[in-house]
Amino acid sequence: MWKTRLKGDFHLAIIVMFGAITALGITPFAVYRFLSGQPLVALVDMVIVVGIVASSAYAWRTGRTPGAALIASVTYSIGCVAVAHLAGLSGLFWVYPVLVANFLLVGRWPALVVSTLAIAAIIASDAALVSSLQKVMFGVTAAVVSLFSFVFSSRAELQRSQLEAVALHDPLTGAGNRRGLETELEIAMASSMRSGTPLGFVVFDLDRFKLVNDDFGHEAGDDVLVQVSELVRSSTRKDDRFFRLGGEEFGLLCPGASPDALWNIAEKLRVSVEREVRCHGRSITVSLGAAPFRPGESAGDWLARADAAMYRAKRSGRNRTVIEDRSGPDDGAPVPGPLVPGRAEG
Ligand code: GH3
Ligand code: MG
Ligand code: MG
Repeated sequence: MWKTRLKGDFHLAIIVMFGAITALGITPFAVYRFLSGQPLVALVDMVIVVGIVASSAYAWRTGRTPGAALIASVTYSIGCVAVAHLAGLSGLFWVYPVLVANFLLVGRWPALVVSTLAIAAIIASDAALVSSLQKVMFGVTAAVVSLFSFVFSSRAELQRSQLEAVALHDPLTGAGNRRGLETELEIAMASSMRSGTPLGFVVFDLDRFKLVNDDFGHEAGDDVLVQVSELVRSSTRKDDRFFRLGGEEFGLLCPGASPDALWNIAEKLRVSVEREVRCHGRSITVSLGAAPFRPGESAGDWLARADAAMYRAKRSGRNRTVIEDRSGPDDGAPVPGPLVPGRAEG
């Protein structure tokens, strides 16, 4: 269980690893300093150990890794400045691993700020470095280590964001994939419950798409999927999130959309697909199901309601929108048209 968690969360793994290394690596130093008559340095060492272990425990318990990593980085940096002050030159060797640790723990810019402050604090005091030459040598070597770490961290961040983009998006349409949806759903649901703002999900599926493939070939089918995706992206709001759920089925996550707004979004989409998407002159249509999020329900239940609504749209003739906002289970009976009163069927 804990192994899976560490494997799945790289940042958490780094923080926990640092916690363990610090506890195992610095505690013997603290004991040694204490026994060799340097109780103050020993105390600083122990404060560092407690600070890092506490931040690891905090990250583990709450999952708030960025905050925990920043606490760890600041603790390390203050600690190494204090040790350099109290232990003199021999305390200075800790600065280098701490500089690297800063860049592994937090983003490159906060790491650069924290590291620069630590280096400046050590140079400014005469406790560890006495001559100007020593200060210059230390300043240059510490700056080089920080610079290398900064470049390395930038590359790693870029590669991670590229990998993340590939892992979370569908290559054909550029829409988010199912894994991307899971991540975004959790965030959107939590935010909706916290702020009390509405949230909606629209699921839609191309009508009789098999015929498009059969009549015009798979490539033409792919082109239709791309056309639909571009249309969705150009006609929805910036906050809306678009996903390909599989095959010719798509989802649109709409933060802030009330049930009425959700209906309008879905209908606008239906109308514009019918009007604008073409395959060898043939018009393409979609059937849509929409479901407003009910605070407290699971993501699975919510999406199942949107799905049920879409199947009602299919069963009632396709090229239409059904909004699912009833509490009972779908009865499976065919419905005559959209579930919003006073609206003509599409
Ligand atoms: P319905 O209106 O009930 O949704 O009918 P349909 O024909 O769209 O539904 P069905 O599920 O029978 O067919 C879906 C088709 O979508 C089958 C498959 O060939 C096609 N399809 C799925 N993924 C892709 C894709 O990536 N590219 C292309 N070109 N076709 C795809
Ligand atoms: Mg279909
Ligand atoms: Mg389908």
